[in-house]
Amino acid sequence: MLTIGVDIGGTKVAAGVVDDDGTIVAQALRPTAADRPDVVAETVADVVRELAQGRQIEAVGVGAAGFVDETRSIVRFAPNLAWREEPLQKKIGGLVGLPVVVENDANAMAWGEVRFGAGRGQSHVICLTIGTGIGGGIVFDGRLYRGRWGMGAELGHMQVVPDGRKCGCGRHGCWEQYASGNALVADARDIAAAHPEQARILIRLAGGRIEGEEVTEAARQGDEASLAAFARVADWLGQGMADLAAVLDPGCFILGGGVSRAADLFVDRAREAFEERLTGKGHRPVAEVRLAELGASAGLVGAADLARKR
Ligand SMILES: [Zn+2]
Repeated sequence: MLTIGVDIGGTKVAAGVVDDDGTIVAQALRPTAADRPDVVAETVADVVRELAQGRQIEAVGVGAAGFVDETRSIVRFAPNLAWREEPLQKKIGGLVGLPVVVENDANAMAWGEVRFGAGRGQSHVICLTIGTGIGGGIVFDGRLYRGRWGMGAELGHMQVVPDGRKCGCGRHGCWEQYASGNALVADARDIAAAHPEQARILIRLAGGRIEGEEVTEAARQGDEASLAAFARVADWLGQGMADLAAVLDPGCFILGGGVSRAADLFVDRAREAFEERLTGKGHRPVAEVRLAELGASAGLVGAADLARKR
């Protein structure tokens, strides 16, 4: 059976035809206008029609970066897109004439990884998508955990520092402001400003404007400040995972997202920090920490599979 998975990002719509084994048999990519909800729905419909041509498609799964309601049809709010109470399922369904399910993008990624990627065969998984923020997805007892109203697993917005750094969600001190790509850049900038002598490589590479890529490159070249920034992010990541393990006792964490491209610079330390801070340490099995395997297509593949199981 073929379904179409769609991943709506801030700047583009990625879609693919996916079979029962999670294999993408065809794909398409379109730019989108994040500030215009109607245009986004039309872009999705366009790309679905193109991919459906000459194929028997059963359903469409849409991964969207926002708070999706428990009926998997309405995006109530999206921090980075102009959606407010957006009836995405109805709009897209009406345009393409196929059953549609809408899912939070991080949930879709988690499901894709558990079904076909790093979490295959695991029943209790916490997936962390580490990019500019932290997207969370929880698979609990073999099922995607959505919460009572579909708003569960917003793990990046646990407050870890009272009155801490301002978060995109409007609050302060959220975990994603300390353990994400944004956090890495903020830490590197802070350290470079306070101790420029430790950031010579970084400052030379960045030429005045420090961004994530430069921090990664500088760290690889041994820049002290950049390595320290990675260490801070790793420690915060480990701390957060230990807290999540205290609540949910997962068998496995999966780390994905843009920052995982620099996994060699922080994952070992994050794993150590996690094990060190685990409550009941020494008297319990320790969850594995794995890297995501499906890369950027995890969300699309997961959404397509969730549409199959609607
Ligand atoms: Zn937040």
